[in-house]
Amino acid sequence: MPAIKNNSEYHKTIVSWRHWLHQHPELSFKEEQTSDFIASILTAYEITHHRGLAGTGIVATIKGTQEGHTIGLRADIDALPLQERNNFSHKSQHDGHMHACGHDGHTAMLLGAAVYLQQHNNFAGTVHFIFQPAEERDGGGRVMVEEGLFELFPCNAIYGMHNWPSLEAGTFAVHDHAVMAAVDTLKIRITGKGGHAAMPDQVIDPILTAAQITTALQSVVSRNVSPLESAVISITVIHAGDASNIIPDEVVMKGTLRYFDSHVGEKVKQRIQQVIEHSCEAMGAKGELRIIAGYPATINTSKHAQECAAAATALVGKRKVQRDLPPSMGAEDFSFLLNACAGAYIWIGNGKGKNEEQGRCMLHNTHYDFNDDIAALGASYWVELVQALLNNNKKNSTILASFINAKK
Ligand SMILES: [Zn+2]
Ligand SMILES: [Zn+2]
Repeated sequence: MPAIKNNSEYHKTIVSWRHWLHQHPELSFKEEQTSDFIASILTAYEITHHRGLAGTGIVATIKGTQEGHTIGLRADIDALPLQERNNFSHKSQHDGHMHACGHDGHTAMLLGAAVYLQQHNNFAGTVHFIFQPAEERDGGGRVMVEEGLFELFPCNAIYGMHNWPSLEAGTFAVHDHAVMAAVDTLKIRITGKGGHAAMPDQVIDPILTAAQITTALQSVVSRNVSPLESAVISITVIHAGDASNIIPDEVVMKGTLRYFDSHVGEKVKQRIQQVIEHSCEAMGAKGELRIIAGYPATINTSKHAQECAAAATALVGKRKVQRDLPPSMGAEDFSFLLNACAGAYIWIGNGKGKNEEQGRCMLHNTHYDFNDDIAALGASYWVELVQALLNNNKKNSTILASFINAKK
């Protein structure tokens, strides 16, 4: 039974916060109004909180009535550099910025859970509510960890949640292992020798070299990675030349690399370097590769994933908790938190949205909108997780046991 019911006063309040956040989107590490808004709600409900980790980050803390373990619950708070194309009353008031990944919903749901648990703190232990900046770029999660998140607020386990548009509203998906991929950015510079396009024997053509590299890179995943493992190499930028009769001096290429297993990542990076080096050598050109590390893979521990699945099952029933969805090749900086503290990250179904255009779109689309109808369920999931994990009267083990039995 969800702690927070649809259309309850709690739900309506969470939705009103969500709409304010949607109207005031701010980019990574610039979430100043957002941070003030979160702090003002925490202050109004007399919830202890610490500001300033990773700049705009906030950690709120609620202690239960008895001693026990400590868990961390995390929401990301930043928006994207997109011009919103929705026309509803809560559309973005910040030109060129938009909550198109539903972080407005994540923030409002975690605030809702904090307010509920402040008023119903009959649990044994401590909960840290982590409002994290800059998930979309530059890794606010990494910065919070580097600035001492887990030294200041030690946690036995850490949990995250993302809304997921292709999943039906009222459902969850929980992965036992990999959820989201690791991402690195490739920057390649090919230097040849420019000249007249009618006299190609006098030049070293960096465009032909770049074309051969682009094609050869597609053999890395298909021929150097086991078919049972996953990786993606996509070349997404090729910049060169200005005129039809000039072969340019150089080509600049960019691309993205994705994988789950760090051994696969290392192997692929080594092969990319070799392909560039030897293709350039064959053509007489010079190649330079820079690999900019992005986010590591988001990998759940099975024990914590099972706890999440049990809490979700208690709310919506076993059939509405998918346990076999493939992971996403998208990336998520919750991975930095998971690398520092064991835990799990789950998806909550966002459903089809309110109109046809929203129904068709994925995260980061200019028509995207978090679904208010799932706000009570998402907040209730946090409450359920806390009550199940930080409970001295065996409710946790009962839920887990019934879930494991149901699975058998
Ligand atoms: Zn996003
Ligand atoms: Zn997101």
